[in-house]
Amino acid sequence: MRAITVVPGQPGSAELSEVPEPEPGPGDLLLETVRLGVCGTDREIVEGAHGESPAGRERLILGHELLGRVRECPEGCGLQPGDLVAGIVRRPDPVPCACCARGEWDMCRNGQYSERGIKGLDGYGAELVTLESDFAVPVAHPLGALGVLTEPASVVAKAWEQIDRIAQRACQAHERVLVTGAGPIGLLAALLGVQRGHQVHVLDRAEGGIKPALVQALGADYHTEPVPDPDIVLECTGVAELVADVMQHTAPGAIVCLTGVSRTRTLSVDVGALNNELVLENDVVFGSVNANRRHFEAAAEALAQADRDWLGRLITRTVPLDRWQEALDKRDDDVKVVVDFDG
Ligand code: BGC
Repeated sequence: MRAITVVPGQPGSAELSEVPEPEPGPGDLLLETVRLGVCGTDREIVEGAHGESPAGRERLILGHELLGRVRECPEGCGLQPGDLVAGIVRRPDPVPCACCARGEWDMCRNGQYSERGIKGLDGYGAELVTLESDFAVPVAHPLGALGVLTEPASVVAKAWEQIDRIAQRACQAHERVLVTGAGPIGLLAALLGVQRGHQVHVLDRAEGGIKPALVQALGADYHTEPVPDPDIVLECTGVAELVADVMQHTAPGAIVCLTGVSRTRTLSVDVGALNNELVLENDVVFGSVNANRRHFEAAAEALAQADRDWLGRLITRTVPLDRWQEALDKRDDDVKVVVDFDG
């Protein structure tokens, strides 16, 4: 079968390889890959900046944003052949730490977790994949190919869950939300904010194209200039200047959630002023990564509730497997690009 493989740490090594079909173990599903989403993490792995092969192997099968169709499943697993599922990315560390031991592997404390298609485990970018049934999340049939958005939506479902928990300490409801970046993570973060009844503002540098219309279609406001005094910020770019900026320009008692991964960047920042902003206004700044099963389920639910036409507009390009490299190109107006394994 064909699989997208890469030698982590070796730029230019990614290719479509012929690899043996996987053998499902007891408790595993055998899936046909339907769609595979690509994101900045995949690009970093292909550029040699990230990623780790399975022990004793040179190549890693890439891909962590899976929509798969069940071909075979163990009896009693609650799924049937033909069902659509998303695949959870992270696996608990073997120690396990206290978080992994209770299924909160997204909060792993010792860094020994593994991640399909990223860290130590083959990913989902192959024509057939095996998936432990506990790590398969059912996707509602009406969503069809849009179910490929489950993994990125799980990342924002986790971020929102943590924001909601922190917000519980407040005397007054947080209403005004700023999302920075109108990529897939930002737009899905905006969707979940609107679903929670917040007043959502999205900041992006794109003056035209599809992004302003996607934000407005949600009932949110689109901006290309800074938005003053948000109560909640979801920073979804990892752009260092923006990260420094959003921490400093918030309403008192604000919650700032950082979700982007940055390249190294040295900036001159007045740390004293930043400290005073955080301390004197009781602000909270925190980071959020990955997602556990609860977040994947919340994501599947949020997508099932969303307008399907809107979700469809997030997928701006679908490329066939034999042209998978094109999925990694960054084109103007791309939001989510997916590889079609089904065609
Ligand atoms: C994935 C996460 C993962 C993170 C770090 C992201 O692209 O969505 O599941 O934890 O990369 O590897």
